[in-house]
Amino acid sequence: MRFRLILFMMLAGFIPCAALLFGTVQLYESRAVGLRTADIQNQCTILSNQLAAYDYLTDPSSDVINANLTQLTNIYNGRVMIIDHDLNVVKDTYSLDEGKTDVSENVVLCMRGETTSYYDSDNHYIEVTSPITAGGSNEVIGVMLASVSTDSIAVTRQMIWAYGGVIVGIAMILLGVLSVFLADRMVRPIHKITGAIENVTEGYSDDVLHVDTYTETRLLSEAFNKMLGRLKQLDESREEFVSNVSHELKTPMTSVKVLADSLLEQENVPVEMYREFMEDIAKEIDRENQIITDLLSLVKMDKTGQNMNIQSVNINELLEQILKRLKPIAEKKNVEMVMESFRPVTAEIDEMKFTLAISNLVENAIKYNHDNGWVHVSLNADHKYLYIKVEDSGIGIPEADQAHIFERFYRVDKSHSREIGGTGLGLAIARNAVIVHRGAIKVYSSEGEGTTFTVRIPLIYAAA
Ligand code: ADP
Repeated sequence: MRFRLILFMMLAGFIPCAALLFGTVQLYESRAVGLRTADIQNQCTILSNQLAAYDYLTDPSSDVINANLTQLTNIYNGRVMIIDHDLNVVKDTYSLDEGKTDVSENVVLCMRGETTSYYDSDNHYIEVTSPITAGGSNEVIGVMLASVSTDSIAVTRQMIWAYGGVIVGIAMILLGVLSVFLADRMVRPIHKITGAIENVTEGYSDDVLHVDTYTETRLLSEAFNKMLGRLKQLDESREEFVSNVSHELKTPMTSVKVLADSLLEQENVPVEMYREFMEDIAKEIDRENQIITDLLSLVKMDKTGQNMNIQSVNINELLEQILKRLKPIAEKKNVEMVMESFRPVTAEIDEMKFTLAISNLVENAIKYNHDNGWVHVSLNADHKYLYIKVEDSGIGIPEADQAHIFERFYRVDKSHSREIGGTGLGLAIARNAVIVHRGAIKVYSSEGEGTTFTVRIPLIYAAA
């Protein structure tokens, strides 16, 4: 980026400088040639009049005219030829073509009364023709052809190129130094951000970024700080999760160890006691198994929804099946289960994940219920969503806990929950399962009266 900035600034400086120099040289040349041509044309017109007056074309021996011609050639470093009406060269100041015939285009044109001029930039000369007219009439009796050198203009042109080139060169050197300095300054905040990000990445710093040099770097710093905050949050939640998992997995293992040790420490343990302890050990192993199963379900519930197995499913039938499967648990507590369907509903869902969510809600409604209580499950839909309501007549959830029950391993009453056989993962699984369907889950509860969970899921699955 630094190199590109330098290159850009140098080009931005060089192109106008070069264009200015080139324009100046061109302007000078055309102006100088124009002035010189006009000057010579003037001189030629004056001399042409004199030539006619002295009848020079018939007698080219006039000293006055010859002196004037010589003066003209000396002043302008040029050559003058006087050509008569028959295109014969009457006078040549170089004495080369006298007596010869000149049929060049400009001479012929001039013989018709036109004044011509021609600039040859390669060979550095201007050629001007001026008609010689008979005194008092417009009849062209001859032509005066003057070619003058423009060497002096070419020399000045070279000098402008040389001086201009030096000035542009110096300007470019200064601009180069300035570009390096400016590019360095412009790139510095980006280096600062890169350094700070590297420090954070390598763990040398926990600081937030503050590079306020430009609006862009400020926005970049803010975006980075936000991302850093989110990463820290994720890291903390991962640590908390790992410590919770370890704790939860250790608890049944500790119980098993205590039960086994107490059996081993005693001698002549009666068979009944062995049996009782082994039953407790089996329960703890079941619990450990349940936690691992729940954990696997939770981990598999990828929030990005990439592992979704979406199918069109009849939800009424699916809910009936779920209730049927949970019926034995409800019967144990004599909890009455009622299902109410307001309309037939078909939706695009991942059947396994959806079942897991609703089963957890209904299972909780039975588990945290009083004996002889009831559980109502209702299903409704509109053109966009399906709505499921799971109501119970159970113990309810205290208001302070309602905001936390969807967190992993959160239980309202740990001892009671343990007794009932929960892992604290059921609602976290249910919530994740609803979220991967782009749905929503809510809880309404009053302690001692009962709880209602509502679930809303789109009928058509929208992939992210
Ligand atoms: P658990 O495995 O302990 O049931 P969950 O994540 O399913 O874990 O539920 C978290 C906590 O929320 C439970 O421990 C319980 O205290 C409370 N809870 C969940 N559902 C209900 C309900 N229907 N009625 C009363 N309390 C509930």
